[in-house]
Amino acid sequence: MVSTPGIAAGRLPKDVLDANFRDIEPPLDALAAKIAADRCLFCWDAPCTRACPTSIDVPLFIRQIATGNRLGAARTILEANVLGGTCARVCPTETLCEEACVRVAAEGRPVEIGRLQRHATEAVVEADRPLFERAEATGRRVAVVGAGPAGLAAAHELAKLGHAVTVFEAGSKLGGLNESGLAAYKMTDGFAEKEVGWVLGIGGIAVETGKALGRDVTLYGLTAEYDAVFLGLGLDATNGLGVPADLAGVEDAVDWIAALRGATDLATVPVGERVVVIGGGMTAIDAASQARRLGAEEVTIAYRRDLADMGASDHEKDIARGDGVLIRTRLAPRRVIGEAGRVTAVEFERTRVEGGRAVGTGVLVTLPCDQVLLAIGQIPAPGVLGEDDLTLTRGRMVVDAEGRTSNPKVWAGGDCTDRGRDLTVEAVAAGRDAARSIDRALRAAC
Ligand SMILES: Cc1cc2nc3c(=O)[nH]c(=O)nc-3n(C[C@H](O)[C@H](O)[C@H](O)COP(=O)(O)OP(=O)(O)OC[C@H]3O[C@@H](n4cnc5c(N)ncnc54)[C@H](O)[C@@H]3O)c2cc1C
Ligand code: SF4
Repeated sequence: MVSTPGIAAGRLPKDVLDANFRDIEPPLDALAAKIAADRCLFCWDAPCTRACPTSIDVPLFIRQIATGNRLGAARTILEANVLGGTCARVCPTETLCEEACVRVAAEGRPVEIGRLQRHATEAVVEADRPLFERAEATGRRVAVVGAGPAGLAAAHELAKLGHAVTVFEAGSKLGGLNESGLAAYKMTDGFAEKEVGWVLGIGGIAVETGKALGRDVTLYGLTAEYDAVFLGLGLDATNGLGVPADLAGVEDAVDWIAALRGATDLATVPVGERVVVIGGGMTAIDAASQARRLGAEEVTIAYRRDLADMGASDHEKDIARGDGVLIRTRLAPRRVIGEAGRVTAVEFERTRVEGGRAVGTGVLVTLPCDQVLLAIGQIPAPGVLGEDDLTLTRGRMVVDAEGRTSNPKVWAGGDCTDRGRDLTVEAVAAGRDAARSIDRALRAAC
């Protein structure tokens, strides 16, 4: 973390910080869940299920809640999506299952699928209650590299199917961006860690933390030692800004959020007084909202195209605006301005949008600031892949619908592949499906 004038920790008293970072959408109690579940029409064609990347049987789990069978509801969800607890908190449901809900057309308001899913899953994860048993041991060994949502989903499914799994994780903690990226006010109460514990509870999963592919292990070595390998590496590097920005106070938004998520005391997390966040996706929104909640006076998101082009959903934008974040569009960064080695402003060029592209107009706008958070997209860490017959496109692994790479012993899923859509639920679906594909391949080879 940078220590520089204008950037300070402890801008707000502890009680205000606690209030700012408490659960953004508190869980439903039993009565509220029953009332919410009773709004479901149990549609025969379940458009909500079709809109879910993990195809959770939504009407079934809602019926189970409505009839008081909370455990059954949890099983229905977690069978399809083992990280259904996190997804219930962080999925942009307004663009997935809830957007498809027929109640929207009828009443302008969907069944609260996300909150019902949270109601069902949380009870199981919080109580660390086992729900699944492993199939008979197959004698096959699979290596999973990366313990984010994709890797965890793959490991759990493989263990459930009877394979012996070893997870290699570069970091010291499991969970990937569940643990270090998702906004703190969505992932309250140490839920990510509890969920990892519950996932591993199925058994048959050995964990090696501090083991990075490309540094401590090689793909060549893993494919020689294991029957199959799954790669769920995520995206570890950030796009460049395109202009020099080597000044104190300019930070990668993902790193800044990771430090915030890792802090035991939020009063120790430094934040600027005037913060400019550059980008338009979920990372930009989360960084901006959390900067405001830490006490930044003025937070502006600057995005180069239009509101509708931003990667963040309308719901996420509303959260940021509700926090007092100013979203300014059609601004492309041209110069990061500094004094005595620290940032003092960013100069932008106004753009117009032509054929979906931002084109400069020559008009310059300067936003004074003491902190700049770069949220301009994640890319694969260079140098880790590119060996052992893996086909890459723009650094991401090319995979088929089952997650198979061009190396017959290697599968991949989540953000690090060309099919990744930078959503937790998509990574879970990819990990699960790749695990099933690995299982089919190993059984066929018997
Ligand atoms: C700031 C931010 C906010 C987000 N908010 C949301 C949200 O609200 N809702 C949503 O649905 N999605 C959100 N996303 C996207 C979501 O977090 C990702 O799509 C998802 O985590 C991808 O999962 P993954 O398993 O592919 O990768 P990751 O979660 O990145 O996990 C990859 C894991 O692999 C490990 N690893 C990396 N390289 C190596 C190596 N060489 N060897 C061994 N291990 C390695 C990493 O340490 C990490 O643990 C957000 C992303 C960011 C950055
Ligand atoms: S679309 Fe809405 S009403 Fe229909 S089954 Fe799904 S949640 Fe229930």
